[in-house]
Formats: sequence, structure tokens, C-alpha cells
Amino acid sequence: MLGEFLNKKECPKCHRFLPLSSFSKDKRTKDKRRCACKDCAKKLELEYMEKWAWERSHGMIDIPTEKECTRCHRILPISSFGEKKKNRIGRMSACKECDRERQKKYNSRPEVKAKLRGYRREYRDRPEVRERMKEYNKEFIKKPEQRKRIIEYEQRPERKAKKKEYNKKYLSRPEVKEHIKQYQAEYYSIP
Ligand SMILES: [Zn+2]
Ligand SMILES: [Zn+2]
Repeated sequence: MLGEFLNKKECPKCHRFLPLSSFSKDKRTKDKRRCACKDCAKKLELEYMEKWAWERSHGMIDIPTEKECTRCHRILPISSFGEKKKNRIGRMSACKECDRERQKKYNSRPEVKAKLRGYRREYRDRPEVRERMKEYNKEFIKKPEQRKRIIEYEQRPERKAKKKEYNKKYLSRPEVKEHIKQYQAEYYSIP
């Protein structure tokens, strides 16, 4: 009972008594958790995002023409920083270059890689996406420069060898053999 009591706290916003897991982690506080619960924090964040976006579009926030990147510490023009709605000035704290680097590092982690692969597969398997991809590919390979690239690619020796091997494997499958036999029988029986 007491343990359960200790692992809960009241959110000062919604006044719900919630388990600690309902509060985001925060190293700066005494209990290492944020003051407001996750739901309230999200709501507040959205409110701020809207407020800042409105203020920015009405020229109420002074946006500097250049600022220091928090990672590489270079002073760069504001256009070198990606957009970020969760920020008052609407820009990221690290420059685009550093952010790309960070993203690349993050995406190369094995668990992230696996997750991304899963997402991509799920996305590609959606019927509407499949249909769209098919249309897109059809149009894409019609382009002359693309055709040239495909022909060049197909003519590479390693590609030819691979294709040959694949064909051999494919033709040796029993169901394919059967299919060919049937086809040939039909073909030759045409008077
Ligand atoms: Zn709350
Ligand atoms: Zn930087």
C-alpha cells in the first residue's frame, strides 16, 4: 500500500493521482520526473506551439538573423537551422548539418534500423501504396535517362552472372518445369 502510494503523485494541472510512469523523466527535478503528467505536458506543448506559431506569423517574436549551433558552435545564418515548431523561434538548436549527422547516427543503431525496416515494409504492403508505387514505377522506367541506366546496369558482368544463376534456379523448380511442359505441349499442338 505504502509502496503504491510512494510511486504515485498528483499532477498539479489535472489533479489526478497518477503512477510515476505517467510523468516524463526529468533529471533536473527532485523526483526525476516532470511536474505535470504526460497528458497535460502534451496539451501544454501544443498550446505553446500554436501560440508561438501565431506570434511568429505576427512578427511578435524577435527571430535572430544568425545564431550559434549548440553542437558545432559555429555562428550561422538562421536559414542553416531546420524548422522546429516546439521552439519559440521556430528553429532547431543544432544546425542542419549537425542534425543530419545526429539523425544518421541514430538511424544506424541496430534496434532503430530494424524498426525502420518494419515501418517501411508495413507502409509498402498497404494496397493503396502498392498501387501508387506500381503506377510510379511504370512512369519512371519510361524516362529515357532511366532506361539507359537500367540497360547499362543489366549489362554489367556481375549482373549478367547473377541473372543467369537466378534463371537456372527458377527453371529447375518443379512447378515451373511443369508449367513449361504444359506451355510447350499447347504451343506445338496448334495446327
Ligand atoms: Zn495532468
Ligand atoms: Zn552545427
